[in-house]
Amino acid sequence: MIKNTFKIDIILKCGAYLIDKEDVNIDVMIDRAKIACQTIETNYKSKVAFYDDKIRISILHEKEIENNMDNALLNKEFVVYLQPKINLITEEVVGAEALVRWIHPIKGTIPPNDFIPLFEKNGFIEKLDLYVWDNIFSTMSKWIKNGIKPQPISINVSRIHLNNRNIVASLKSLINKHNIPAHLIELELTESLFLSNISMILDILNDLHDIGFIVSMDDFGSGYSSLSLLKKLPIDVLKIDREFLNETITSVRGEKVIKNIITLGKDLDMLIVAEGIETEGQLNLLKNAGCDIGQGFYFARPMDIESFEKLVFKRINF
Ligand code: C2E
Ligand code: CA
Ligand code: CA
Repeated sequence: MIKNTFKIDIILKCGAYLIDKEDVNIDVMIDRAKIACQTIETNYKSKVAFYDDKIRISILHEKEIENNMDNALLNKEFVVYLQPKINLITEEVVGAEALVRWIHPIKGTIPPNDFIPLFEKNGFIEKLDLYVWDNIFSTMSKWIKNGIKPQPISINVSRIHLNNRNIVASLKSLINKHNIPAHLIELELTESLFLSNISMILDILNDLHDIGFIVSMDDFGSGYSSLSLLKKLPIDVLKIDREFLNETITSVRGEKVIKNIITLGKDLDMLIVAEGIETEGQLNLLKNAGCDIGQGFYFARPMDIESFEKLVFKRINF
């Protein structure tokens, strides 16, 4: 008889709560130790975590955001900004990416990285993204009604939306509501999204693609880039990650990698977009490598819709 042997790696992690005051209920102490333990998931440097003030403050901060988020949405504190995308040959604006900002009445402008991860955890991102999409489609519809050739706009699609098929119906009904052709909307999905549940995601993406939406793989090169995914998924646009570009400029090998990614993407009939262009050096490297479109502070920062209209359409009153 053949004996199968398996090698299983077990990683133990432990959360601890130091009892300094005895007036805390034992259940609360255990909960705090569990909360400390959960913080290890994103930071594997240590296998033990103690509940401390930093954790308590971050939880209080999260609670505060959670208490305010619904009202903030009602009060229209979430504002959609647009960052132009530029054709690297003609240097014309050929579209934009929609990026949300939280304009808080007291705290001022809060960047998305400070609230999107929490909204992905608590599910609020579904509501917020629908709000952002509705907002941007309504703006595009206004452009069309005013006889202006609309710019294609990219929207960020959080991985949470791809846990079920509702996204197909939601996006379809939103473009119908505003009468926007699907091919003017590019859906930006991050590559880490494709790590799980690949068959359902493939179905959803094929449906969205069949409706006419453009599918873009965002942050390509940032982490788990799987070349086999490029073969399997209906991807029209490859968006090269900004971090990747930063390293490239300093190394010949890096430059070769970026050139070959662009060649591969083009061979697969994909449009190549580079994000995070900050310097002329980066721009020239990308141009030489055959990159089609660029986005970055070198050209323009994300701006409110009025500023975008002024810059691109030379109009302010719609
Ligand atoms: P992302 O999709 O990778 O968006 C690009 C980010 O790079 C934006 O940050 C943009 O402001 C920034 N950026 C653009 N050009 C440059 C540059 O030249 N240099 C540098 N250093 N940065 C540049 P932002 O607006 O802070 O957004 C951060 C992330 O939050 C986005 O990353 C996206 O993943 C997420 N996000 C933003 N808006 C939304 C939204 O409406 N829905 C969802 N689900 N996610 C969003
Ligand atoms: Ca994006
Ligand atoms: Ca990106």
